Amino acid sequence: MTLPPAGAPPVAAPPVERRPRRCFVETWGCQMNELDSQRMSGLLMEQGILPTRDPKEADLILLNSCSVREKAAQKAYSRLGEYRRLKRRRPELLIGFCGCVAQQEGEKALSRIPDLDFVLGPGRVGELPDILAARRRGQRLVATGFPDARRRRYAFDSLSRQTSYKGMVTIIEGCNKKCTFCIVPQTRGPEQSRPLADVLAEVRHLLDYGFVEIELLGQTVNHWRDPESGADFAVLLDRVARLDGLRRLRFVTSYPRDFTPEMVAQIGRHETICPYLHLPVQSGSDRMLKLMGRGYDVATYRRLVAELRAARPGIAVSTDLIVGFPGERDEDFAATLRLVEEVRFDSLFAFKYSPRPGTAAPRLKLPPVAEAVASERLQTLLARQSAIQHEINRGLVGASFEVLVTGWGKEPGSLVGRTPCHRVVHFTPAAGRAVVPGEMTRVRIERALPHSLLAAPLAA
Ligand code: SF4
Repeated sequence: MTLPPAGAPPVAAPPVERRPRRCFVETWGCQMNELDSQRMSGLLMEQGILPTRDPKEADLILLNSCSVREKAAQKAYSRLGEYRRLKRRRPELLIGFCGCVAQQEGEKALSRIPDLDFVLGPGRVGELPDILAARRRGQRLVATGFPDARRRRYAFDSLSRQTSYKGMVTIIEGCNKKCTFCIVPQTRGPEQSRPLADVLAEVRHLLDYGFVEIELLGQTVNHWRDPESGADFAVLLDRVARLDGLRRLRFVTSYPRDFTPEMVAQIGRHETICPYLHLPVQSGSDRMLKLMGRGYDVATYRRLVAELRAARPGIAVSTDLIVGFPGERDEDFAATLRLVEEVRFDSLFAFKYSPRPGTAAPRLKLPPVAEAVASERLQTLLARQSAIQHEINRGLVGASFEVLVTGWGKEPGSLVGRTPCHRVVHFTPAAGRAVVPGEMTRVRIERALPHSLLAAPLAA
């Protein structure tokens, strides 16, 4: 038992007589948060606390918050306020504030919300059962901070996975980079890589249970290093990609500067590694990349994409871009548009810059970009990308793909799946052929839309 956390004495509260029976978990943000919620749900299920989709039915509500959202703290407090209204009607309801905003707010949250039961940061997720036990004894705890990886509890076999075919596996937590717009190093702490043996054991465990797709997760996934042998991500890719039963291997998020030629070679070498890579560039202007503290230039990024495409022809590349970062001039934005035209990303996520408290960017005292200008740049960028994407997708008409079915479509009997290059495909299986989520099936692309593909089934 590692509680109470350093520097945060427990706050007294009336003991809770009844054990919770149903839990509602609300998750905001990235895949790391999604996985943390799966971990928390799994730990609760081990204690006989079952999930519910309806907060009104729950005796325990966990808000797993995300600080990348604009006005994150305000939004989190407002949601907690809604849950407190439920608690007024049912005083035995427990409310836990979790995730990145909880990590930032810490004890402040307990003082601000007198009936909040506990605060749990992302580095302490494994301690949820202890927190609940302490709450039953009448303690309100703040468990934040980042214990050393060797002291963190990570029970992968108790994770409550959302599907039985795609398993996410954290390989590295936290981030040591210092991108000036980003709050993650503060909310998720310094980098800590999981040992190679642990990662392989978790992947094998999933494959033994019939999972076909594995996604390795980390804020800077390709900066992973085995803490014991020093082996790097190229070694890990090679070891995982060879495992029996694996059909698809993905990983996210890669940091451009951390790619090595050997990692690129592994992507070219293994069919099981999906031909898709998310590679955030953030800007097409060297001046902006410098202000953002990214540590690479546009030429290096361009070269890396060319190397990846040479190693794995047809690989799809997606990216993240920020427009309106302070100091961004028309010529910087023009450079971003040029990069988009030149690289022809298969998809991209573009965001208007918005300052996050605690990040370095506001301290740079750069001239802000007017809201209207940033909005116009975003629209221009998205419109251009949409046209490029539509052209790329049209080029796929007539091609056949193996899709992993991920769910049901809107039309009765229709399905949605993903190609190995991560494109969304809608199709209706042949009459009399029952296809269910988790299955792999072959389709031929018949129509292209800017953001998805329509397909017809092919004989198995
Ligand atoms: S690499 Fe940069 S953007 Fe990514 S999590 Fe770390 S600091 Fe944030």
